[in-house]
Amino acid sequence: MRQIRVFDTTLRDGEQSPGATMNVDEKLQLARQLARLNVDIIEAGFPITSQGDFEAVKLIAEELETVTVAGLARARFEDIDRVAEAIKNARKTGRIHIVIATSDIHLKFKLKMTRQEVLNASINAVRHARQYTDDIEFSAEDATRSDWDFLCRVTEEVIKAGATTVNIPDTVGYTAPVEYSELIEYLMNRVPNIDKCVVSVHCHNDLGLAVANSLAAILKGAGQVECTINGIGERAGNASLEEIVMALKTRPKLFMADTSIVTREIYKTSRMVSKITGMIVQPNKAIVGANAFAHESGIHQDGFLKERSTYEILKPEDIGIPGSKLVLGKHSGRHAFKDRLGQMGYHLTDDDVNHTFERFKALADQKKYVFDEDIETLITEEISKTDYVYNLVSLGVTCGTEDKPIARITISKRGEELKTESTGDGPVDATYNAIAQLTETKSQLIRYEVKSITGGTDAQAEVFVTIEEDGRTVRGAGSHTDTIVASAKAYINAINKLEGKNRVITQGV
Ligand SMILES: [Zn+2]
Repeated sequence: MRQIRVFDTTLRDGEQSPGATMNVDEKLQLARQLARLNVDIIEAGFPITSQGDFEAVKLIAEELETVTVAGLARARFEDIDRVAEAIKNARKTGRIHIVIATSDIHLKFKLKMTRQEVLNASINAVRHARQYTDDIEFSAEDATRSDWDFLCRVTEEVIKAGATTVNIPDTVGYTAPVEYSELIEYLMNRVPNIDKCVVSVHCHNDLGLAVANSLAAILKGAGQVECTINGIGERAGNASLEEIVMALKTRPKLFMADTSIVTREIYKTSRMVSKITGMIVQPNKAIVGANAFAHESGIHQDGFLKERSTYEILKPEDIGIPGSKLVLGKHSGRHAFKDRLGQMGYHLTDDDVNHTFERFKALADQKKYVFDEDIETLITEEISKTDYVYNLVSLGVTCGTEDKPIARITISKRGEELKTESTGDGPVDATYNAIAQLTETKSQLIRYEVKSITGGTDAQAEVFVTIEEDGRTVRGAGSHTDTIVASAKAYINAINKLEGKNRVITQGV
């Protein structure tokens, strides 16, 4: 069995999905979960683009003991120096990931450089980075639309200059499995020093082929896959981590390759990413969608009940889908609560445990049974909100068939309490009008979605909203047993994100 390295870029490429901005605390929280999932490398950000990205890479690199932490840099010394600064005290290893385009279309219109200039810049960048660390990844952006011989030349030279991983990205999601495997094979045969590096693949899903392309490349000897949880990423997204990992796991004889992923952590990681980014997982999404293990049709159910393997190639428990079991109730104490957090893999500070416990008690008062999913939601919210400008203090709404809906709301703005009341076409509308007044937001509400976290009428509602201001889109999520309160939290969460960082440079791989 070949061991394939899993390079997770949820925090960098995934975060570049429209609206999926994460703050430093959210990235740290997610990075800890990615470490429990046991990915090999986490790409935590693009340090030169913002202080937040720099801090995220630095904090994650300094905390994680078992994972290599990478930061992205263009082939420029100032970008590379910034990554080097962020990873210099990495607990395990820090990686500098350098990217420059190699396709003629990018050279001509974007970089305005000749092939020779790109080759020189690549070599100089890798040499410069090698002063700081031995773990250097080089990405030939838009590799799949590059001239194959030029790509071979660049690959050979950056390996000579010290690159230890060479990535062949399908940046625009253009290739197909048959072509991509030929390209990987071509590089394997033509680049004389290819055995001195790990060949990596990074596929985008514009034609729905990202996972298929990645698997085709693995069959030809690629040793690293770059992917994201839930396949989030720019445009149609990146190759999805859970799909690649479970394909290798389910078909070992076909692929003769495996990863070190702890598959039982997949479902939890997927939920956390959805919650933090505000991006709902489509119900029919492979592996982690709500319907991925639902057997509807009568014939299938009959077969399934006689023998699971008739229609089931994967088991829900393999990816850690909980049987929605009752964990705690109203009378559970702080100690039991803390124990349960530990079993679920969360190790919080005493302060965070105390705050989360208060919220757990409040929830247990509203809701008969508290499930693992409810607790995960509480923790994610608790950890996300630390640097937020606005927080919901209280909300009261009257509505129904007789009354004109009125919302009375108090929110805090950096600790200062603001109050107002407002009417609207319905309770959510009234609440949103009141929030818009207090925050003076100029954003437009683009989408509003409601989902329940577990079953039952006392289940927590999870609300996702998308808002837009000056062409910038952000998403927010909120949950509560009361749908209107969940709606208010989601809207405030989105407005907080809008107040957050603005990127100055955008660049992909
Ligand atoms: Zn990408």
